[in-house]
Amino acid sequence: MNNYFIILASGQSKRFNSNKAKQFIKYKNKALFEHSLDKALSSKLFKKIILVVNDRKQIKKKYPKNVIIIKGGKERSDSSLIALKYIKKFNPINVLIHDAARPNFTIKLLKKLIKTLKTNKASIPVISSKDSIKYKVNNQLFNLNRSNSYLTQTPQAFKFKDIYNLSLNQKNIIQDEATLFINNNLKIKFIDGETLNNKITYKEDINNIKIYFGIGFDVHRLIKNKKLYLGGIKIPFHSGLKGHSDGDVILHSIIDALLGAMRKKDIGTFFPDNKSKFKNIRSPKMLKPIIHILNKKNFYINNLDINLICEQPKVSKYRSKIINSLSNLLNLDKDLINLKGKTVEKLGLIGKEKAIACEVICSISQ
Ligand code: ZN
Repeated sequence: MNNYFIILASGQSKRFNSNKAKQFIKYKNKALFEHSLDKALSSKLFKKIILVVNDRKQIKKKYPKNVIIIKGGKERSDSSLIALKYIKKFNPINVLIHDAARPNFTIKLLKKLIKTLKTNKASIPVISSKDSIKYKVNNQLFNLNRSNSYLTQTPQAFKFKDIYNLSLNQKNIIQDEATLFINNNLKIKFIDGETLNNKITYKEDINNIKIYFGIGFDVHRLIKNKKLYLGGIKIPFHSGLKGHSDGDVILHSIIDALLGAMRKKDIGTFFPDNKSKFKNIRSPKMLKPIIHILNKKNFYINNLDINLICEQPKVSKYRSKIINSLSNLLNLDKDLINLKGKTVEKLGLIGKEKAIACEVICSISQ
C-alpha cells in the first residue's frame, strides 16, 4: 500500500458568495473538506493524506498522524505541485488528487481508481453530460456532441512519477491534472464517475434542500353500528369511529402532520365540522386537496411514521393492507411509510375499546 491522497482545499471560491472559503463551510454537519478527509481515512487505503489549505487557522480539530496539513499556492495547479513535491521524499507509487469541493464520492470509487493504476498511468472518473454543451471560438458558437463529451471528476489517480514530472514542466494554469496527460498526448484510463460526486460550487448547492417536520394527532370515540375506517380502508370490527366524517384517525393525523410541515394551520381550518357539506365525508376525499397543495408547492414527502393507539383491532393483522392503501392515497413508496401499533394497558377509554387514537410524524422537503 504505497498510496497517497492529496486533498486540495486552498481555493478562493470566487463563485461562492460567502465570507468564508467554501471548503470550511458546514455541509451535512461537517466542514466541506472533512467529508473527503474522513472518507480517505476510513478507507485505510492511504499511507498519508495531504490536506492543502491556505488558512491553517481554520482547522481546529486534531487529526491522526498520517494526516499532514500543508500550505497551498496561488492557483490550484500551484497547490497540487506543492503537495507532489512534499510527498516526493516518501517515494510514493500511486497518488490520488482530489478537490475538497467534491464531498460525495464513495470509497468504492477510490478502490476502483487504485485498482486501475495497476495497468495504467492515469485513471480518471468521468460521467456523460446531462446538459448539452456549447463552446465558443472567435465569437462563434458550436455544439458539442453530447455522446462524445465527458465531464471529468476527482479524485484523479496517477502513478506518482508520471504526474510529478508532468507537473514540474507545466507552465500554464490548468483546471485538473488529467489536462496534463491530455496536453502531452498520454493515455488515460477513463472509468465511470459517480453522478452524486458533483462539485459544490455555489452556495445554493449547499442550501438547496430544506427539510420540514410536522406532527399530527387525532382521537375518535368508537360507537356501534358504524363502519371502521383506518388509513382509507374498511376494517372488520364491532364498532366504528364517531365523527363528522368517517372518523379515520390515521388519515386525519396524516393531514394534520402534512399541514403542520407545510405551515398551513390544521384540518379544522380546511374542513370545519359545522359545515354540512362535509358531513359523512370519506377521509381520502379530505386528503386529496392537501396532497394538491403539497404538489403545487413542490413539496415531497420523505417519510411518515404512524402510531395507532388502540387495544383492538391488532395492527399487525392489517399493517400491510393499511400501508398499501396509504401508499396509493399519498402516491408514496411503501418503504417510506411505517405503522406501529400501541396498546394502553387497558387504561381509560382507549383501553376499554371505546376510542382509537393516532399520532403521525412526517418529514417533507421542497
Ligand atoms: Zn378526526
